[in-house]
Amino acid sequence: DVTVGVLALQGAFSEHIQLLRQAAENIRRNGSATRWAFIDVRTEGELRRCDALILPGGESTTMSLVAARSGLLEPLREFVKVLRKPTWGTCAGLILLAESANRTKKGGQDLIGGLDVRVNRNHFGRQVESFQANLSLPFLGDTVEKPADQPFRCVFIRAPVVEKILPHRTGIQTEEASREATVVAPSKAPIDDLAKEELNAEVEVLAKLSTRSLALQNNQDHDHPGAEDIIAVRQGNVFGTSFHPELTEDPRIHVWWLEEVLKAVHRREQFESN
Ligand code: GLN
Repeated sequence: DVTVGVLALQGAFSEHIQLLRQAAENIRRNGSATRWAFIDVRTEGELRRCDALILPGGESTTMSLVAARSGLLEPLREFVKVLRKPTWGTCAGLILLAESANRTKKGGQDLIGGLDVRVNRNHFGRQVESFQANLSLPFLGDTVEKPADQPFRCVFIRAPVVEKILPHRTGIQTEEASREATVVAPSKAPIDDLAKEELNAEVEVLAKLSTRSLALQNNQDHDHPGAEDIIAVRQGNVFGTSFHPELTEDPRIHVWWLEEVLKAVHRREQFESN
């Protein structure tokens, strides 16, 4: 069995569970025998049961305050940065997974980190606070329902973007890494060789939003016609999207991600049986 958790402190967690079920059904129809369990995560004990985790959209400051109060921040950092389990953040979740974000507390104590990027939390500001865009997401494989080349309806709600890719952090416990400060406390769990591989992974840009094509879709002018914003990234076990696939009915990103989770779970099983 593979257990996937959704952090259920605040925000759109039940929508994710819904789409995860749909995605698992898709994967099953494609011939996989994996049995999935999808659970809400509110406690450290629930987190420990998970092979992978989603951080939903919502409001990142609230989410991290509640996480801190529930004693979940350090366990979450350990999950992402030491155990290196597959973790996906959507919108507010992406903000929490960034090593750096604008307008967060000094010392960055309210982020989890794991992605060597800086996000701008409310990038689209007042002009287009919330909008939808049909984007082609080339990283998606074909699923039963829709082939990958059909555009994905991306929902942006006061969405963040990745505004900068930071220099790669080689060791999470170094002095420099703690400057922007989402390091785990000097760790109890040792980082094993498999986790070290993840640690060396670079940030990959998986999707961009061109403001020009957005303006064309909406029939409007835009003041930054040439701009392109990074809206999906991956670094090893950590994946983040600016938008909310959980607010659509399209399970393709969930299918893709669950397949990535399966690969990671198999890598771990093989590593441990050697
Ligand atoms: N901008 C919001 C934040 O700072 C995120 C919005 C969202 O998740 N829809 O948390």
